[in-house]
Amino acid sequence: MEKAIKEFSYEELLKKVEEQDILIKELNNERQDITNFEYFVKDSPDLVCIVDSDAYYKFVNDSFSKVLGYSREELVSIPFFNFIHPDDLDITSSTFKNLAKTSPVIDFENRYIKKNGEIVILQWKANLNRSNNLVYAIARDITDIRKTQEKLLSSERSLNEAQKIAKFGSWDFILMTQELNWSNELYEIFEFEKIPNDPELYNKFKSCFFPKDAEELSINIENTITNRVPYEMEHRILLPNQTIKWVFCTGVSIVDSNNNVVALKGVVQDITQKKQIDDAIKAKEKAEASNKAKSDFLANMSHEIRTPLNGIVGFTDLLLKTKFDKDQLEYLSTVNESANTLMEIINNILDFSKIESGKLELISEEIDVYELSSQIINLFKYEANHKKIDLLLHIDENVSQFIVGDSFRLKQILVNLLSNAMKFTFSGHIKLNITQVEKDETISSIKFSVIDTGIGIKVQNQKKIFQSFIQADNTTTRKYGGTGLGLAISSQLLALKNSELKLSSSYGIGSEFFFIIDFEKIEQKQNNSVVETSIERNKSSKPSNSLDNYKVLIAEDNKINMLLAKTLVQKIVANCTIIEATNGYDAVVLAEIELPDLILMDIQMPIQNGYDATAAIRKSKTTMNIPVIALTAGVLNGEKEKCISHGMSDYITKPIVHTDLEKVLHMWLKK
Ligand code: ADP
Repeated sequence: MEKAIKEFSYEELLKKVEEQDILIKELNNERQDITNFEYFVKDSPDLVCIVDSDAYYKFVNDSFSKVLGYSREELVSIPFFNFIHPDDLDITSSTFKNLAKTSPVIDFENRYIKKNGEIVILQWKANLNRSNNLVYAIARDITDIRKTQEKLLSSERSLNEAQKIAKFGSWDFILMTQELNWSNELYEIFEFEKIPNDPELYNKFKSCFFPKDAEELSINIENTITNRVPYEMEHRILLPNQTIKWVFCTGVSIVDSNNNVVALKGVVQDITQKKQIDDAIKAKEKAEASNKAKSDFLANMSHEIRTPLNGIVGFTDLLLKTKFDKDQLEYLSTVNESANTLMEIINNILDFSKIESGKLELISEEIDVYELSSQIINLFKYEANHKKIDLLLHIDENVSQFIVGDSFRLKQILVNLLSNAMKFTFSGHIKLNITQVEKDETISSIKFSVIDTGIGIKVQNQKKIFQSFIQADNTTTRKYGGTGLGLAISSQLLALKNSELKLSSSYGIGSEFFFIIDFEKIEQKQNNSVVETSIERNKSSKPSNSLDNYKVLIAEDNKINMLLAKTLVQKIVANCTIIEATNGYDAVVLAEIELPDLILMDIQMPIQNGYDATAAIRKSKTTMNIPVIALTAGVLNGEKEKCISHGMSDYITKPIVHTDLEKVLHMWLKK
């Protein structure tokens, strides 16, 4: 069959050729378009892709491969979901599927996993071309931006926390827009509810100021804007709920590149607590200062009162040993007793104030329990004898002879208990009983009891007598004297050693005051044996006077004290040569020239005090071995340690008591 060939006219052929030309041109244009597109997106830092409806990349640019680390071939070979972080798959696939409805999608974010396993965050703009069903998408790698934002957020969080901890709020005020921004903490400080862009914030803030401070704030702000002078204010604020707080406010000006003030910035710190602490510290310092002034006054006063009292006690003591008629003797004894009582009262008040102000510290030294107890008993021999009372001392055989403690304070407590017993006992006996309660390798618990057969204490009074300035009943002072401080001081001293003064008493029968203290033991120096002393009445306890022909230097600035010391030394040491110095400096010089056998050294002296003078004496080869005995007021804390540390050999407290001086002279002059 013959093929039918359509014949075209020349015009028709020409038209066909033209149509062909157009098609070729369009094809060329399209190719050019694709080349142009590829060329256009090739070097774009953004990730550009075209995705078909099956989720395959039809096209990815170089950045896409570069950012994700996959080659173009790898990227186009599998659906794009394979490159997405598993946690972002759902949201990405639903966004992709809904593109028909939601296109264009702007600022969609998801995470891709790079070939090396790292994660990148991409932010997408995607558009569905409904004519060819292709998605044209462009993404930006915002990983670094997000990281920076995260860091910023975390530092903002830290700043907020820091502000919270420091009670520190910050603010800024933009002049152009009149916009005031407060940090969260500032809202907390002012206890305001946070309202975004609150136009009333500044007024609310200022209404918390007291009028004078509000006026100062306005002037400060004005000054900061016009003269760029930073300001600082510390003042109170009154919150709407009527709470008062203290704040510290600062403000500075912020300038632009043309040096124009564009904003103000500042901080407000809640210093209420700090103020309260400052006030408490100030009050404490004030109280401490006045307490110190009181203690200083008491110490000084005691020194001033003690000096004349020393004279009265010392000389009446001496006078009593001379001959008088009965009346004179009685008057003189009364003077002597009164002076002694006054001295005791002063000592008690001083001790009490020292304990109250926490200034009294116990020292640790070796104590010979045997020696200490017999010394104490000796003090009461005369009176016991006089009152016809038996005075007994019992020390258990297993009590450690040598212990570590504060002998002065232990003695003070026992003397106080014994003098009370003596005061309130008129027949029978008084006994100092020392027993071992518990003992281990290092610690020895010793019980000290003072037992009397005196008037006893009514049950209802047994607690209150331990309080300061309290006596069993109102008649006590009249009948027996006293200040009501002795037991309180003893209790407080024992409390410093974690011990307690206890009482067991039957009214009309007698009393027992006792306490237990833990002492550190020291190596046994002597075989223990039961010490049982019954002090026979009438037995004299005077040490034999066998001191003869010594040279004693006395350094003392007070004339009465000098005379007393001189008289007593001359009484104790036969044929004694006395050299007198009225200040520390003279004492040092005279010691060099005279080379005395012993020096009695007052502490408080003009020109050079007793400590410095002793130190100088110890420095010189010629005088370094001379015994120096301190004459202390015995009231200042650590006075005894200070004496020893300055090279003094021993000390006696004023008023100089005949027996004390005698003991010391016997001890040091015989060496
Ligand atoms: P003071 O003896 O200076 O008054 P204390 O504190 O030593 O002060 O004693 C307080 C009171 O306790 C005494 O006034 C007395 O009433 C009572 N008291 C203390 N010891 C005894 C005792 N051994 N016998 C009877 N009463 C005592």
